[in-house]
Amino acid sequence: MRSRFTAFVLKLEDYLRASWHDSTRPTALDLHHSPDWASLRILDSDENGNTGHVHFQAIYRLNPGWGYLQERSHFVRENGRWYYLEGQPHEGVLKPGRNEPCPCGCGRKFKACEGPK
Ligand SMILES: [Zn+2]
Repeated sequence: MRSRFTAFVLKLEDYLRASWHDSTRPTALDLHHSPDWASLRILDSDENGNTGHVHFQAIYRLNPGWGYLQERSHFVRENGRWYYLEGQPHEGVLKPGRNEPCPCGCGRKFKACEGPK
């Protein structure tokens, strides 16, 4: 999951396609218009045999502010490898509280971040 997020950030289309289950893999993936990703939060995950779920929130920069894409992704394991199967993403505007983790990924509380707001 984290490796797929990293791949989205770095626009590694080949990696994303390779880790996508062949039953749902898009024929083409254009990441040129993808958001300016900032950080990733894993909200919940579970694994049961060869099926797993990862509920995550991926945060991106808006100008100004922050947006998020949240999804409970379904993964399947085949021959020892995990593949992304499907998920229903929804997006919104993130309004972080002062004491919440900073969305920029700096690891500080939002109020303590020294980066651009
Ligand atoms: Zn920050």
